[in-house]
Amino acid sequence: MPAKIEKYDLFIDGGWGPASDGRTFGSKDPFRDEDWAQIPLASAADVDRAVRAARAAFPAWRATFGKDRARLLRRLADLIARDADRLGAVETRDNGKLIREMLGQVKSLPDYYNYWAGWADKIQGDVVPLDKPNMFHYILRQPIGVIAAIVPWNSPLLLLTWKIAPALALGNVVVAKPSEYASASTLELARLVEEAGFPAGVFNVVTGFGDPTGVALTTHAGVDKIAFTGGPETARAIARAAGQNLVPLTLELGGKSPNIVFEDATFENAVTGVLAGIFGASGQTCIAGSRLVVQRSVADRFVARLVERTRSIRLGDPSDPASEMGPVCFPQHLERIDSFVREAEREGARVAVGGRKPQGRADLGRGYFYEPTVLTNVRPEMHVAREEVFGPVLAVLPFDDEADALRIANDSMYGLAAGVWTSDIGRAHRMAEQLESGIVWVNTYRAASYAAPWGGVKKSGYGRESSAEAIHELTYAKSVWIDLSGQIADPFVVR
Ligand code: NAD
Repeated sequence: MPAKIEKYDLFIDGGWGPASDGRTFGSKDPFRDEDWAQIPLASAADVDRAVRAARAAFPAWRATFGKDRARLLRRLADLIARDADRLGAVETRDNGKLIREMLGQVKSLPDYYNYWAGWADKIQGDVVPLDKPNMFHYILRQPIGVIAAIVPWNSPLLLLTWKIAPALALGNVVVAKPSEYASASTLELARLVEEAGFPAGVFNVVTGFGDPTGVALTTHAGVDKIAFTGGPETARAIARAAGQNLVPLTLELGGKSPNIVFEDATFENAVTGVLAGIFGASGQTCIAGSRLVVQRSVADRFVARLVERTRSIRLGDPSDPASEMGPVCFPQHLERIDSFVREAEREGARVAVGGRKPQGRADLGRGYFYEPTVLTNVRPEMHVAREEVFGPVLAVLPFDDEADALRIANDSMYGLAAGVWTSDIGRAHRMAEQLESGIVWVNTYRAASYAAPWGGVKKSGYGRESSAEAIHELTYAKSVWIDLSGQIADPFVVR
């Protein structure tokens, strides 16, 4: 047991307290395999209180001047920057991802809050010239209301920020639900929201499992929009709830992203990009480049070098800045990753490197580690080539020419991201145009910015986060008509 278990409370209506029925659950440290924090398990009654608090706060918040909302967001940005080291350490403790990755993410958050603070007082309507005499028409852009923001465990604060920074800037109010595997950093963020001076009820946090907490939130009649990041099965359940209540929904889901290497690519850059794409975050990212689609003429040489580089990846304590891969988040996930590899082997795939839990490594403690794994002899119909593993497992699929590369890359139910490695500028643009994915990286991978749209196509979801695109997700256009003629119109014809 750790020396001290951190105890957290719910943040509802500007106040802190336990779940109404007193229930809690433990949050495990994936490196030490022990509970380090106690998190309240919000009941349906707690969720109801949070949604009501948000609803009550909405009229005043939406009426607050944009410059004043912006001031609070900028203050929050400064507080996050002040506490970044602590917030990063909390995330590493909770989800086992490398401190260098979590710190990098947390340190990028102030940029998102400042970017959206910049938008807060610049949301304008439009005057529309119509083909109707004596009719003045304009569009008002208005906040939607109570946004339920639900996120997974792999990048809790980053994914939450993609939702709440624009939501709050644009005059919406939020009830956030982090993952049961990594709730602590969202409650830490709530402390900073409070310190920044946001009015009570504008931002609320309910922690707990998908059922009951997530279900209570997504089925609540007081929620006006759901913004969800997570897996496809949960997304289907939430889409049903959104359908029942007829509320809009954005879905940021998983992927089976191709990292496509042409023979004319700068070889070592491509190796590094492929390595980063699949082994960064131990493969636990939605944009993991989990399919290496490589031109046959260079495939053997490329895979040999990749295997060599993979062997030198340093597994270790995620809180050690020297570690290059940490554990995965929880034991069932580790078993799931292994079962993908075992199944692929049975179907004829070959493990070129990795393919098991590390053996006899005292330095890895009780952590849930999986070796970085490259699989060759993979056929496109195998599960490991089609389904999201969400772990450090790369499936190699060779191709012959550009058309073949495109066909293999697009042969997926997913469409979140794709990487293209080539020195031919024409090919780069042709591929970017024809790849069925929401994000294309050319000669780079795993890049994100507050100013660049983020989101997928096909079964990777719908809607966009970040950039001005998100304004349309979190506001609606109100169409206002004013008759200037003073005449009484015929009541029986449409004007
Ligand atoms: P998950 O779907 O199991 O859980 C996500 C969240 O939904 C958690 O907070 C969970 O408690 C909640 N939830 C679960 N069941 C629910 C229900 N019935 N109603 C309401 N809420 C419910 O996902 P996960 O395993 O935590 O995360 C991994 C998935 O997230 C992967 O598929 C990954 O690709 C995806 N992801 C996508 C992006 C993106 O930007 N597109 C980013 C990161 C992760």
